[in-house]
Amino acid sequence: MNIDGKAESLKIKDEVRARVEELRATGRRIPCLAVIIVGNNPASRSYVNGKIKAAAYTGIESREYELQESTSEDELLSVISELNGDSSVDGILVQLPLPGHISEARVLEAILPQKDVDGFHPQNVARLWLGQDCLAPCTPLGVIKLIESTGVSIEGKRAVVIGRSDIVGKPVAKLLLDHNATVTIAHSRTAGLAALCREADILVVAVGRPGTVTGDMVKPGAVVIDVGINRGADGRLVGDVDYDSAASVAGWITPVPGGVGPMTIAMLLSNTFKAYEMQEKFVD
Ligand code: NAD
Repeated sequence: MNIDGKAESLKIKDEVRARVEELRATGRRIPCLAVIIVGNNPASRSYVNGKIKAAAYTGIESREYELQESTSEDELLSVISELNGDSSVDGILVQLPLPGHISEARVLEAILPQKDVDGFHPQNVARLWLGQDCLAPCTPLGVIKLIESTGVSIEGKRAVVIGRSDIVGKPVAKLLLDHNATVTIAHSRTAGLAALCREADILVVAVGRPGTVTGDMVKPGAVVIDVGINRGADGRLVGDVDYDSAASVAGWITPVPGGVGPMTIAMLLSNTFKAYEMQEKFVD
């Protein structure tokens, strides 16, 4: 069966929206997300537009900072420092990738961990792996929500995550572990990938290569989550999983588009609300 990421993301956004409405009704401050974009990468532009539109839907305020491609690292760091100190801003998101002359690591580390709604700051990464409360990365959080939406219990299941990036593969694996799955992380050097995948009750694919998983690699009845976003030869978006062949074997599967993508944005807003709650407690 298809997992409807659009419908699931709408549920999350509606929950956030109801909580923002409640704040408005009681005259409280409204959460605010600052989004910084450097340069004019068209994909980044479209991601930022999507985030700002979704924030507006929930009632979360957003501020966009559009910086030129030639912006220096110091200039960007000074914008972040200002936003860190601004108590009317709850979440700070720097859209990646950044131009080559700017260090992403330095920039992400400059964001106050309590405002790091992408969950990329080393302190949030450490807290995630230590099992402490933190802002966790949005795509992995969305992946877990999508699995939960199927009603299939994660506990005790064999989960295989293909991809070991810091933003998807590794944090997804940790969240699955937190839900008591038995987790294997596969990657570009994994031997016998197909056989490994066939053992997975839950298969999460985050590689960035179309056709990485085909139906013959899927265990009958498995939950398959396709994180990949690739542009096909005809210009259409495709995932990492060959949807048609995998869907005929899987119990549940996410489409691309309309699967993980919308959930990532919904979890960003949910994280912004969490950052707001943390800041309000801090301020009180
Ligand atoms: P990445 O390039 O950082 O990591 C890719 C991983 O895939 C690596 O760990 C690598 O070891 C592994 N890999 C590469 N070739 C492989 C192969 N042949 N077999 C097995 N493993 C292989 O990518 P990323 O940032 O983790 O993103 C992965 C995909 O997810 C991309 O398509 C990206 O666009 C997409 N993505 C989607 C969302 C979303 O919101 N839907 C968010 C983030 C990333």
